[in-house]
Amino acid sequence: MITLTNTRKQRFVFSLYHEHVCRREGTCSCDTKMVPGADGKLRPRNDPLSLQIDGLSRSAPLPDSVYHVPQVRLACNEGRLVREVIPPAQKVVAPALTKKPKTTTDKE
Ligand SMILES: [Zn+2]
Repeated sequence: MITLTNTRKQRFVFSLYHEHVCRREGTCSCDTKMVPGADGKLRPRNDPLSLQIDGLSRSAPLPDSVYHVPQVRLACNEGRLVREVIPPAQKVVAPALTKKPKTTTDKE
């Protein structure tokens, strides 16, 4: 997981393109609509979800694949967005809380 921090005052809006995000994640989070094709038959169309990050604020945790969206990568390269990788360890309970408290009966 990553977070993206918008370093500019302007809101940053981007789309989670199917070919960049869904394919890598293995699940489609697009808004799928049935639309008539050239032959008049209904076909599914994947409309990418659009996300926005308010100026000078940080996004919610996002899948790593979001970084592969060209708009996001470009913004990171230009310093408009700062990517932070959330280490997997942060998702589990802090180890300090699971340690047994030392008691006087413990033998070492
Ligand atoms: Zn998709």
